Amino acid sequence: MNVECPYCHCAYKIDISLLRNPLGNEHLGYGWWLRCHRCHRKWWLKNTDVERECNTPLIASKQTRIDRLSAFASRKARKQGRVCSGYGFAKIALLVVVAICIAALYLNRHVFRDYLIVKARRATESIIPKIEITDVRYAVSDDNVVVTGKITNKDITVVSVSGVRVAVLDGSSKVLSWESQIESGTLPPGRQIEFSATHALPPGVSDMRVEVSVF
Ligand SMILES: [Zn+2]
Repeated sequence: MNVECPYCHCAYKIDISLLRNPLGNEHLGYGWWLRCHRCHRKWWLKNTDVERECNTPLIASKQTRIDRLSAFASRKARKQGRVCSGYGFAKIALLVVVAICIAALYLNRHVFRDYLIVKARRATESIIPKIEITDVRYAVSDDNVVVTGKITNKDITVVSVSGVRVAVLDGSSKVLSWESQIESGTLPPGRQIEFSATHALPPGVSDMRVEVSVF
C-alpha cells in the first residue's frame, strides 16, 4: 500500500499485513500512528483509508480500544478531580458507613457509657463481692463473748462465704481475734444468713468493740 507523508510528501510502501488490527484513539477513531523517516513528523493513518486500499474490512482490536479509552478516561477523571469512578464510589460508600457508625455511637453515647460503667463495675465486683454484714451484736457470759449478726449477699451472683473473722478490740488495741466457720456458706443473690461466733474473752477488757469480716 502506498502512503505519503502529508508534511514533506515523502512516499512509502507499507506491507498491508502489518496493518491488520487498527488501534482505537479517543479523538481520531481507528488507525495507526506513522512517523516519517525524513521529516520525523507523526500523522494518523485512518483504517478506512487502508480498508479502501485493500478492499478488506479490518478487525479492530476491541480490547486495545477499551484499554486505551479507560486509561484515557481515568487520566481525565484524575485531572478534573473527580472521584466518581468505581473505586471512588467504594471509598465514598465506606466513608458513609463509617460516618453512620460514628453517628450511631454518638447518639447512643449514654447507653454506651452506661454499658462501660456496668462492665467496669462487674469487673470490680467479681474481685470484691458485695457482702453486707448487719446487726452485729455481742454478749458476754461466763467469760465468753458471743458475737452474732447477719450476712447478706448484695451481689448479683452467687457468693461463697466460708466463715467470719471476728476481732475484739479494747479501745484501739486488738485483744482477740478468731475465725468461725459457716455451715451453708453458698449464698445466692439476696440471701441472708445469721452467724454466731463464740470465744473465751480475756479478762480486763474495759472499752470493748467487735469488728467482723467474712472470708
Ligand atoms: Zn515527512
